[in-house]
Amino acid sequence: MTEMTSKLDELFKLQQIDNQILQNMRRIRQIDKVEHPVQKKHRELNAKLEAFDKEQIPFKAKAKELQDQIAVYKDKKNNVDMKLDDSQTDPKELQFIFKEREQYTKLIKTAEDEIVKLMLELGNIDLKKRGFVEQLNDIEEEFKKVTAERAADKERFAAEVEKLRDERKAFKNFSDKTLLSHYQELQKTHDGMAIATIEDTEDKDIKVCTGCNVEVSLRTLQALERADGLVYCQRCGRILYRQG
Ligand SMILES: [Zn+2]
Repeated sequence: MTEMTSKLDELFKLQQIDNQILQNMRRIRQIDKVEHPVQKKHRELNAKLEAFDKEQIPFKAKAKELQDQIAVYKDKKNNVDMKLDDSQTDPKELQFIFKEREQYTKLIKTAEDEIVKLMLELGNIDLKKRGFVEQLNDIEEEFKKVTAERAADKERFAAEVEKLRDERKAFKNFSDKTLLSHYQELQKTHDGMAIATIEDTEDKDIKVCTGCNVEVSLRTLQALERADGLVYCQRCGRILYRQG
C-alpha cells in the first residue's frame, strides 16, 4: 500500500465520520423544524382555547364590575333601611327615603339582569370550548407519547454526534496537514463529499464516480491504479478513492 493510499484511507474514514455528524445534525434540525401532525393539532387546539379564553375576558371583567356596583348599592340600601327603622326619622323625610330605597332596588335589579346576560354569553363560549377540550383530551396521550419519542430521538442523535466528534479528534494528528486542509476545502465546495469512490456498473467496462455518477475515463482509472498521487474526477473534481 502506498503512502498516498493509506492517507486516503484515513481521510475517507474522516469523511464518513463528518457525513454521519452532518446526518445526525440534520435529523435534529428536522425534529426542531417540522412538527409532528399530532403536535401541530395540539398546538392549534390550544391556540383556539386561548382565543376563547381571551374572548371571555371582557365579559368576566364586566361581570366583576357589576358585582362590585351591586355591593355598593346594597350598602347604600342598607343605610336607607336603617333610617326607615329609626323612629326618630322625620315623617316628611320618609317619602324621600322610600324613593331613594326604590331607586337602589332598581339599580341592583338592572345590574343583576345584566350579569345574567353576561353569564349566558360566557356559557355560550364555554359550550364552544367544550368540543375543542374534548378533541384535545382525545389526542393528549398520543401527543405526550410523540413528544417524548421525539425528545428521545433528539437526545440519541445528539449523543451520536458527541461520540463522532470524539472519534474525529483522532484526526487532529493527521500527518499531512496540507492534504487535510485541501480535503476540507473540497468538502466545503462539494457538499461535504471531498472524496468519491469508484463504482462498477452493469457494463463491466464502465465505472462511475459516486460523487457525480459520471463515467470515469480509462486514463483516470490507470492513474488510480498507479496511486502515486491524488487523482481527481474529471467531471466533479472530487478526489477519487478506491477502497482497498
Ligand atoms: Zn465525479
